[in-house]
Amino acid sequence: MTGNQASAGHLLRLIRDGSATTRGALQRATGLSRSTVGHRLDQLFAAGWLREGAAEPVEGPGGGRPSTRLEFDAGHAVVLAADLGTRHAGAAVVDLSGRVLAERSGAMLISDGPDRVLDALARWFADLLEETGTPPERVCGIGLSVPGPVDWASGLVVQPPIMPGWDGFPIRERLQEAWARHISSEEPAAPVLVDNDANLMAYAEQRAAHRDCAAFLLVKVSTGIGAGVVAGGRLYRGIDGGAGDIGHIRLHDRPEALCMCGSYGCLAAVASGRALAAQLTEAGVATDSVSGVRDRLAAGQPDAVRLAREAGRRVGEVLVTVVTLLNPGVLMIAGELAGTPFLTGVRELLYQRAMPRTTAHLTVVTSRLGERAGLLGAAAIVVEDLYSPDRADARLAALGG
Ligand SMILES: [Zn+2]
Repeated sequence: MTGNQASAGHLLRLIRDGSATTRGALQRATGLSRSTVGHRLDQLFAAGWLREGAAEPVEGPGGGRPSTRLEFDAGHAVVLAADLGTRHAGAAVVDLSGRVLAERSGAMLISDGPDRVLDALARWFADLLEETGTPPERVCGIGLSVPGPVDWASGLVVQPPIMPGWDGFPIRERLQEAWARHISSEEPAAPVLVDNDANLMAYAEQRAAHRDCAAFLLVKVSTGIGAGVVAGGRLYRGIDGGAGDIGHIRLHDRPEALCMCGSYGCLAAVASGRALAAQLTEAGVATDSVSGVRDRLAAGQPDAVRLAREAGRRVGEVLVTVVTLLNPGVLMIAGELAGTPFLTGVRELLYQRAMPRTTAHLTVVTSRLGERAGLLGAAAIVVEDLYSPDRADARLAALGG
């Protein structure tokens, strides 16, 4: 980065990632003059995005004035985040550091379709915001996690097997409209970002507990099966958001297993929570939902334990190829089935079949954030987008800075 290119947005990034947190350090990192750094920081202070922290110890020989530490002010705005499951949703008001200020969850049927679901979410958001006493103008963005494939650039859900009525629906626009209606605002509403649940869970979990891991893989096993990849600290989505959609890889030996996507023999048709519920019912243990499977596993029901372990092995078969391609440092198994039997099955298969070199430094772990992962990922993605150097500069310009 040369001096002339180091805009206010770039300085903000250096401050946020901790690589330069004083005026002097910013000058050294960018080559900008003292007065130019001062001018750009003034823009950031005027926007309310920065605050001064404690004095830093003086560096180098001879000392000098102690320099004040500059900090991103994570309380100057809030993000609204929501996580949609197939029968359940969560929503929260989150500050810019990822701290949850108010939170709600409850039954919501994704099969009710986008109009009803998005309107209900907007109502939840309005209630939660009121609970925190935050005025609606302080909302800088809205993040939404959905259980289906998303084209990141357009925010559209693409042929989702378990989201009837959502294919190609303009989620961003409709949620913005619904939100503006609930707060009776004429102003342009906060921007909305939408992504797939496994991606957002991977993003949040990597940042929460595996920040040093340069290749992080999360596999979510709930109603369906999906995966998210964080490489070099960034979500890897592929060219149209299709990366990680491993649930519909065909297995060679189960041509009769009908999947929710309409095909036969998919991994999700054999090893997902939905598949396990059906297998348990067939074995004489009536189980009608994924949470039912989870309850049986928690109770140590022998058929549930046996079938979950076998499902883990089937997922492990597919993951042998995935980990060989990605060589991840951490493989996290998340979602409602992510308990011990399932994990044991995955491990067994991986360590039996993958090359030792691929798994030598691989750790297989369970979730750190639990049910909140999707929600926190949805909030984090909004903050990273809005305060990235280019977006930050554009927003500062709009503020008149
Ligand atoms: Zn399928």
